[in-house]
Amino acid sequence: MSPVYFLLVDDLEENLLSLEALLRRDGLVLLKARSGDEALELLLQNDVALALVDVQMPDLNGFELAELMRGNERTRRVPIIFVTAGNADSRRRFRGYEAGAVDFIHKPIEADILRGKADVFFELYRQRQQIAIQRDQLKARSDALEEADRRKDEFLATLAHELRNPLAPLRHGLDILCKSPDNAHAVKIREMMDRQLVHLVRLIDDLLDVSRVSMGKIELRVERIQAAEVVRSALEASQPQIDAARHALTVDVPPEPIWLDADLTRLAQVVGNLLNNAAKYTPEGGHIGLSLRADGDEAVIAVSDDGLGIPADMRSKVFQLFAQVENHTGHAKGGLGIGLALVKQLVAMHDGTVSAESPGTGQGSVFTVRIPMAADTAGPGPRAEPSPARAAAAQSLRVLVVDDNVEVAQTIGWMLEEIGHQYRLIHDGREALEAARDFRPDAILLDIGLPVMDGYAVCRAFRQDELFKDTLIIAQTGWGQQRDKNLASEARFDRHLVKPVGYDDLERILAEMART
Ligand code: ADP
Repeated sequence: MSPVYFLLVDDLEENLLSLEALLRRDGLVLLKARSGDEALELLLQNDVALALVDVQMPDLNGFELAELMRGNERTRRVPIIFVTAGNADSRRRFRGYEAGAVDFIHKPIEADILRGKADVFFELYRQRQQIAIQRDQLKARSDALEEADRRKDEFLATLAHELRNPLAPLRHGLDILCKSPDNAHAVKIREMMDRQLVHLVRLIDDLLDVSRVSMGKIELRVERIQAAEVVRSALEASQPQIDAARHALTVDVPPEPIWLDADLTRLAQVVGNLLNNAAKYTPEGGHIGLSLRADGDEAVIAVSDDGLGIPADMRSKVFQLFAQVENHTGHAKGGLGIGLALVKQLVAMHDGTVSAESPGTGQGSVFTVRIPMAADTAGPGPRAEPSPARAAAAQSLRVLVVDDNVEVAQTIGWMLEEIGHQYRLIHDGREALEAARDFRPDAILLDIGLPVMDGYAVCRAFRQDELFKDTLIIAQTGWGQQRDKNLASEARFDRHLVKPVGYDDLERILAEMART
């Protein structure tokens, strides 16, 4: 904390020195003035916590100085203690108070009384300083909250807008298919709807991922993998975007294996994001490069393009949440500026780094990811048998679907029918057990967020019934965080699926169940 200033005003040097000797303490600076004019000058230059003013001075006396101090905005609130010789008569005393005196002290000065009074002003000033610091801190905090609030509003507006983008063509497509199911464009419309839905789901997944990573809720599933698998898996997902924009793609992967201890899905997500961006931010017919190499003890994956490039001042900012280069937004195709923030977080979770380079606007970009290689370069131990291909003819199962959302339940029912299973739909958790006793399902798809009796309670009730203690029960929920998965396994669910559950996933899981 900055020091506290007291001003001592007396025309006699020896008085100033004795006051100084009396008042000296840590954190206190004593300013000395030999005249009223000098005092005014010091008062204007310093923030003074107390002025000790001798009343009798030649030229400007103490009371006149006090009056001048009261007339100036900067000095009017400075507390004053007048030092007088003998007892000031009541008329002079009154004048002193009029001028704004807070106190009088008489010569000869009693040291304890003066020190006691001075300490009060010292402490008062310290408290004011503390309050000022707290006020500044509160202001900084409220400014930060305001800024966060503004960014949140801006983000929500963008989010609503971007969610609506894929919804509009879905709405249109559905309307056309409802009116004329055999429309000449039916196949194209369905493909378009599929793409839009995938986009919508990806937006929401990315949003959830970002918030989960920042809350430390994502756990990596680390395995010994080859970096080339990451490249392959990312390409598989991004190839359609690259092809759709008719970009030429060059892939450069060395034949010798580069081993990583990493989460294949998450790293593929990282590289996939970079490839999608390269495809998005490069005008049609551009060139995209994807390369993998070993550099010292790091695996280096680079994604390059000859597209829009990134201006120098945005090169590190693009990794911030919601950051987008201003004149790229036309190319963002429904992006929210979360992809690269997620990339950075996921790479950091692998103890790696990611950087962006670009010679400038219109001259392409290179994104480079560096991940530490596995400490020893041996491959994985004997691998688990790859899961056998989907059973050719799925065995028909009886599946009970419990979901209070009638439409979700119905569409799952139709999917089950299409796969070749039988189903029964229930919309209330309390009826599930009764219905199951009657229907005797092989598997139960159970929503978690059911009113009155939630999915966990329903699952526990099933497990207590001898008939269903080994039945396959699958949790189906919008909540996909680790905590939710833990709750599901505590309630003795066999599986935990995040909505929307795709046709292929449903078919695969039930086929696996049929085989066991
Ligand atoms: P989004 O693509 O959804 O806007 P990202 O976080 O993936 O969000 O990217 C942030 C921004 O970085 C983009 O809006 C774009 O301006 C810029 N950017 C990302 N990749 C590239 C690239 N390959 N070329 C040029 N600009 C890019």
